[in-house]
Amino acid sequence: MPPDAAAASAPTAPGPPAGLLDRAAALDREEPLRHLPSRFHRPEGLVYLDGNSLGPMPLGVPDAVADVVRRQWGRELVAAWNTEGWWEAPQRVGDRIGRLVGAAPGQVVAGDSTSVHLFQCYVAAARMRPGRRAVVADPDAFPTDLHLLASAARLCDLEVVAARPAEVPDVLARRGGDVALVALSEVDYRTGERCDVPALTAAAHDAGALVLWDLAHSVGATDVDLDAAGADLAVGCSYKHLSGGPGAPAWVYVARRHQHEVDPPLTGWHGHADPFAMDGRYAPADDVRRMRIGTPPMLSLLALDAALDVLDDVTPVQLRARSTSLVRFLVEALEAVVPELPLAGPRDPARLGGHVAVRSPEAWGVVRALAGRGVVGDFRAPDLVRLGVAASSTTHADLARGVVALRAVLDAGEQHDPAHAVRSTVT
Ligand SMILES: *Cc1c(COP(=O)(O)O)cnc(C)c1O
Repeated sequence: MPPDAAAASAPTAPGPPAGLLDRAAALDREEPLRHLPSRFHRPEGLVYLDGNSLGPMPLGVPDAVADVVRRQWGRELVAAWNTEGWWEAPQRVGDRIGRLVGAAPGQVVAGDSTSVHLFQCYVAAARMRPGRRAVVADPDAFPTDLHLLASAARLCDLEVVAARPAEVPDVLARRGGDVALVALSEVDYRTGERCDVPALTAAAHDAGALVLWDLAHSVGATDVDLDAAGADLAVGCSYKHLSGGPGAPAWVYVARRHQHEVDPPLTGWHGHADPFAMDGRYAPADDVRRMRIGTPPMLSLLALDAALDVLDDVTPVQLRARSTSLVRFLVEALEAVVPELPLAGPRDPARLGGHVAVRSPEAWGVVRALAGRGVVGDFRAPDLVRLGVAASSTTHADLARGVVALRAVLDAGEQHDPAHAVRSTVT
């Protein structure tokens, strides 16, 4: 066998298969929502695979924000609360987001951080199931979810029962009668693995428990359908797949059937039935507005409102189809081009959300070296290289370039080279 033939068959360095970039270009030409990425600012020379952490900026946002600042705040001043619809913005933006997660209007408000909304929901759920003391939660959940649950548990005398999504039905079979709430994320923030929202919701309901879905990595990436699943409560971020901007206010969903009874712990004046009566006694609004607390960060909320314009003519099912095409392409490209890095989650795109992660003991160095080559991914301790697939802004060509760069990093051994850590501090 000639030496180059031996090299070509070596499993550790297969190199990019001929045609990867061509196939990506063909998919980008054929894809029904191919016009979406051009609605975003795409910095030259950068392959951005971190839209699941901070979504890229929609082109219309700078002018919209400038109008809010210069004209609305600058000239209209306090009148803008009425003339520009500032007061109703939490419900208006909430309904726009609700459409993307299967929530009929009137069930979502936006305005506070995901962390705050989570705390509101944990305590509210405990109050809706007074005889029950257990809350089932995934020990691998995003840390803030666990930290806030631990505090809510201290406050409400709850017991946190650790169970990964696959273990939840067993726990419910054993302890169901004592479970107040099952709190899970649809998409694992590390591995991208997606769980079965309708099945787990039904299992919790069979046990008489409520369900809280954290959709931080779902909204704008999956076609989760809260109303169809019969979900009780949900929260999600807006700065990830929705591209609402850094610190964009998050959102909370309360199914209509619970809105008369939901009793959140933070009872601010924006949640009052008649805020401008300035009544010292609290009387909650009789709908989802009771999840409002105080004055929201209006500049961020209105930037998010403008960012949502890019999805106005898109349904969640269409967006999910685009996401699936991208995720399938990325999984196949990773398997073909960097087979030595195992996938951290499933390979079936139907079981993944909007990112794909591979394992490497040198993941940190790999992510830094990729950044040095203009490819922005994400490191998650201890060993994950996480590559985000933003359904609205990533292209198949971005993914192909990212995977080719990953191959080049590994072939050059750049993940060991501390110089790359210095070069790439821009991320
Ligand atoms: C990103 C993320 C959060 C972030 O919460 P913030 O209050 O916005 O900082 C919470 N939960 C999950 C599952 C996340 O992925």
